[in-house]
Amino acid sequence: MSKEYDPRMHTAEHALSGVLIRRYGCPRCFSTHINANKSKVDFHFPHDLSPEDASSIADEVNRELARDLPVTARNMAREEAAKMFNLSRLPESAGDTLRIVYIGDPDSPEGALDACPCIGEHVAHTAECGKFVWVSHEWKPDDGGVLRIRFKLER
Ligand SMILES: [Zn+2]
Repeated sequence: MSKEYDPRMHTAEHALSGVLIRRYGCPRCFSTHINANKSKVDFHFPHDLSPEDASSIADEVNRELARDLPVTARNMAREEAAKMFNLSRLPESAGDTLRIVYIGDPDSPEGALDACPCIGEHVAHTAECGKFVWVSHEWKPDDGGVLRIRFKLER
């Protein structure tokens, strides 16, 4: 694992995905570049975001992180996971049992903010991420629309 890797960034990426999916029903990000200083994530997304959208999404991510949600992992049979998640990007070599990472308690009445198959390292509670800062975003009409979001974290 590279020393550029930061579990706080990875958990923040999952929280951002969870918020975007909840708000817009878009698919999960298809490409991520997680770095200690600044990260970028790409979503298939049909339109650009206004500055107001961006700050409202960032506020929502920060509200969720500040709730100090637990970050937990459970194993799930691949067959079971295939009913809930898009596994098309997952290599066959991932095996028959997948690790599902949850942001927020999946057994709570509201459910988890985010759930996805993931082998990466995460923090244990979302408040460890600090403050989510939206750096910039750009939207391109290629492939039905691609939204790239850059963000960083402040302690
Ligand atoms: Zn992940």
